[in-house]
Amino acid sequence: MSLRLYNDKEIKKQLTREEILKELEAMANISSWEIDLITNKSTWSDQSYKIYALEKQTTTPSIELFYSFLIKEDLAKAQAAFANLLTNKKTISFECNIIDANGIKKHLLMYAKIIFDKEDNPLKMIGTTQDITEISTLRRGLSEFSKVMHNSLNEIYIVDYNTQKYLYVNSGACKALGYTKKELLKMTVYDTNPYLTLEEVTKLKKQYNQNNEVLLIRALHQRKDKSTYHAQSYIHSIHYKDKKAYVIFDTDITDLIKLEEKIKHQATHDSLTSLPNRALFNDRLSQIIKSSKRNNKNFALLFIDLDQFKKVNDSLGHDIGDKVLKIASSRLERSIRVDDTLARLGGDEFIIILKDVIEISDISKVCFKIIKEIKKPILVDGHTLYISASIGISKYPKDADNEKDLIKYADIAMYKAKNCGRDGFEYFSTPLSSSAYKKTLLDNSLRIAVKEDQFIVYYQPQYNIGTKQISGFEALIRWRHPKDGLIYPANFIPNAKENGLIIEIDKIVMKKAMKQFSTWHKKGLNPGTLALNLMMKQLNKDDFIPMLIQTMKDLDFNSKWLELEVKECQVMDNPQNSIKKLKKLSELGVKIAIDDFGTAYSSLAYLQKLPLDKLKIDKSFILNLLSSEDDKAVTKAIIALAQSLNLKIVAEGVESESQKEFLQENGCNDVQGFLFAKPLPANKITTLLYEIKENR
Ligand code: C2E
Ligand code: MG
Ligand code: MG
Repeated sequence: MSLRLYNDKEIKKQLTREEILKELEAMANISSWEIDLITNKSTWSDQSYKIYALEKQTTTPSIELFYSFLIKEDLAKAQAAFANLLTNKKTISFECNIIDANGIKKHLLMYAKIIFDKEDNPLKMIGTTQDITEISTLRRGLSEFSKVMHNSLNEIYIVDYNTQKYLYVNSGACKALGYTKKELLKMTVYDTNPYLTLEEVTKLKKQYNQNNEVLLIRALHQRKDKSTYHAQSYIHSIHYKDKKAYVIFDTDITDLIKLEEKIKHQATHDSLTSLPNRALFNDRLSQIIKSSKRNNKNFALLFIDLDQFKKVNDSLGHDIGDKVLKIASSRLERSIRVDDTLARLGGDEFIIILKDVIEISDISKVCFKIIKEIKKPILVDGHTLYISASIGISKYPKDADNEKDLIKYADIAMYKAKNCGRDGFEYFSTPLSSSAYKKTLLDNSLRIAVKEDQFIVYYQPQYNIGTKQISGFEALIRWRHPKDGLIYPANFIPNAKENGLIIEIDKIVMKKAMKQFSTWHKKGLNPGTLALNLMMKQLNKDDFIPMLIQTMKDLDFNSKWLELEVKECQVMDNPQNSIKKLKKLSELGVKIAIDDFGTAYSSLAYLQKLPLDKLKIDKSFILNLLSSEDDKAVTKAIIALAQSLNLKIVAEGVESESQKEFLQENGCNDVQGFLFAKPLPANKITTLLYEIKENR
């Protein structure tokens, strides 16, 4: 369709009324026609010929010609409409389809009416024919679209912007919600979205008005039967029947939400045990720090590592290892409250947040429970396995008030528990001596400890692999701190040496251990030799030997039961003096052992002159015995040296069967280490000695 624009002047000067009409007809694709009812002659405007694709010159217009273009289905309709005109004096209109002279299908809109004379006799039939093919295609598309929309499985709603009432719902919406269309049209969005609040709707509207973009929200819909499902909604603003409204396209995303939750669970949980993983644990820890800060609460972190798990994994395979981990994790879960968090950090490491702990004894109780649970035999695939757990504890806010340090300190404490013989728990205690302030604090507490008798003695057996007998026990000090629990020598002996309290402390240990030994003897038990750790500084004191003699006498302790351990470095510090002092002791019948042998540079000449009975190979060589060729060589050399000097030899820190086998093969039968027993309190040793006695 083309339109030529004329200016006013042109219109007035050049165009007749007929010409303007012609232009307008072409513009609207509309034609006019008339039939003289007297002569039956038809006249068509130029546009009419174009609609039928006919040549004006060669065509004689007639109603029959028009009928001939109509498709079969529309012919009767058109004839009836025209016939009706004479009786019904109104304008008629109808739509019909033709195939034009070029074979193109067209959709026409016809208007027609009869003109009568004054006597009411019909004169003319006049009418218009408009080619509305384009509009009709569009209209058909729209109607098909709305049919599809209506029958769509997706939920479509049109909602009144002001009242939130449903103005339109499609069948998908009815099906999803379980209401009929009639029911829904009486309801508002609040009835089907029970969790939607007025505030939320207001917020949504505001957001919508500001951006005028399509909104995407997720909501929980409630069906007629009160069950719910998750839906995702696209919301567009429209005008519907002259009302401001919005159209909502909803999809049920319950499955998607489930999948999302599953993926989220996978990202935050350990796949083997289903426990929270490190990421989720970190999250929970930071939450609990925040809430504890707010509410002034305490909590404890328990870092747990399974002992011997690597052995299980290596010797029986990962399948069994996995089963053991699962069992261990459910045992851990059983040991805590539902409010506490248990997470797997990876491998055989677990971590627990114990909430609201007030007393240290509460934490200890949980640890005892865990240790007991984990120790129970594990039956998997026909194997009965035994594992244990080492636990390190840090406390909020006492030890630290941030995630990083709390985890680090619990980890450090866990290693301490491992070093102290595993199958136990340790509280984190600040590395004492790290600052002058802490040093002073420690010095003061040590002084109080001496005064208030806070020290106890543990005993670790020395065992002969050949005879399978215990030859004696080494006395090892422990500090039972009223607040920090059990403290190990490494954390206070260096300070005690520095401030001189070690002299006093060693006397306390000596008396306690000697008293214990004579008690055992009096009970008819045989604990063998008592090995006491003593400082050369102590032996150098003039009053030491008289004091020793007096103590032994007071406590009915036989000097033959005693062995004094002196560190190699201290002996070799002033070897001449050491020879003199140690000889005096030896003359009393006391045995002398050199402790931590291999760590200082002993001169062979002095070694020969010292009144020695025993060398104790330092545990640092035993620790890496199997992996380090150097340590193997040193150990062999020390054994050979002891043999050549006719000295007994004891290996310290024996933790594994393979270390034991190596030592045995190389001629060292006396061992001390966690493989046989860790240092134990006196009551445990009493039980052990009774067992030995009974089995004899
Ligand atoms: P030490 O005299 O060499 O004692 C042996 C240490 O090795 C003990 O540590 C013992 O628990 C540990 N140990 C034993 N078997 C194993 C094992 O299989 N693996 C490992 N990793 N360690 C093992 P503890 O009881 O912590 O004592 C540390 C040190 O503190 C002692 O080393 C000793 O030098 C000193 N000490 C302990 N008690 C006293 C005491 O009453 N007086 C003095 N002056 N020093 C003491
Ligand atoms: Mg020792
Ligand atoms: Mg040692």
